[in-house]
Amino acid sequence: MSPRRGQVGRWLAWSETDRWQMAINSSTNAKFASCLISIFSFPFATVMATAPVQLRGICDFRCWLVSLSLLGCLFSKEALFCGRPTATRSLRSLRAASAVVSFDLDDTLWPQVEVIEEANQQIASLHATLSAEEVQGTMRRLRQEPPWEKVSYCNLRCAAYAELLDDTALAEEVLQQWISARNHAGAKLLYPDVMPCLEGLASSGAIVGAITNGAGNPRDIPALANFFHFSVSAQEETMFPHRKPSPVIFQEALERARSSGWTGESWWHVGDDLATDVAAAARVGLRTVHIDRPNRAQNRFSLSSEEALAARQAGADSEPDLTVSCLRGLAQKILQS
Ligand SMILES: [Mg+2]
Repeated sequence: MSPRRGQVGRWLAWSETDRWQMAINSSTNAKFASCLISIFSFPFATVMATAPVQLRGICDFRCWLVSLSLLGCLFSKEALFCGRPTATRSLRSLRAASAVVSFDLDDTLWPQVEVIEEANQQIASLHATLSAEEVQGTMRRLRQEPPWEKVSYCNLRCAAYAELLDDTALAEEVLQQWISARNHAGAKLLYPDVMPCLEGLASSGAIVGAITNGAGNPRDIPALANFFHFSVSAQEETMFPHRKPSPVIFQEALERARSSGWTGESWWHVGDDLATDVAAAARVGLRTVHIDRPNRAQNRFSLSSEEALAARQAGADSEPDLTVSCLRGLAQKILQS
């Protein structure tokens, strides 16, 4: 059964100690209930089934009591046989809680090109001078000039807005609108296998995070927020210029996972890029999943040259531990391995 968001949120907020207590309580309550029902229902059913019938009314009464006793027996069986798996599930969750699963976002949880296109259209519909082509052209030009060759993608976008609007304060507002539109588009265009995967991870108790070079943040997306314990982006002021494949961004993710209660047993990183996800994560000791989605569009919004992108992929020097074409069933595959 898929956990409801509220339940997931509370579960994720619990500490390791709370989860142990929950497991112990679940087990104890189920056993206590089953013992009580067994003690009362089995002897009562036996006595009533064999008692002599003195009166017709009592006989009817006896039939009712026998039926109720049998129902009690059934409930007792349910409690006995469901109580143990409840405890088992909880204990399995506790074991999985020592696992972290981090996700890249663009082209892993949603299609990057479509998401950026939609965010760009949203901005163009609000500000006539900010057509997608104008903004992209301005960003490409600025990227060649000091000091803009050394700023984050979001700051560069903000500079392009400022130039086209001739208003720095408004440009910063528009950048926030663009980031919000990007997150909204991400939620709307989420690949259909993402939610089942996140639900599987949530019910297994894994700590889930995001490590991205982009501006998306699943914790700012209502449909995803409850499933993610942490998110780290290379666009954050304190993180730039440490984009993946820099080990620094993974180190920051490690700190945030520890703050979420991770004690350090296993970590899987899932991403679409062989260099910035698979090879980079493997270099810092993580196990890796390469998601190779079919029909992925070329990222025409990248400000890197095609040569630079090709060289980056050629430099990918690690084989992933696992290669998949979708995320469905991934929680079981990685947490049982
Ligand atoms: Mg990606």
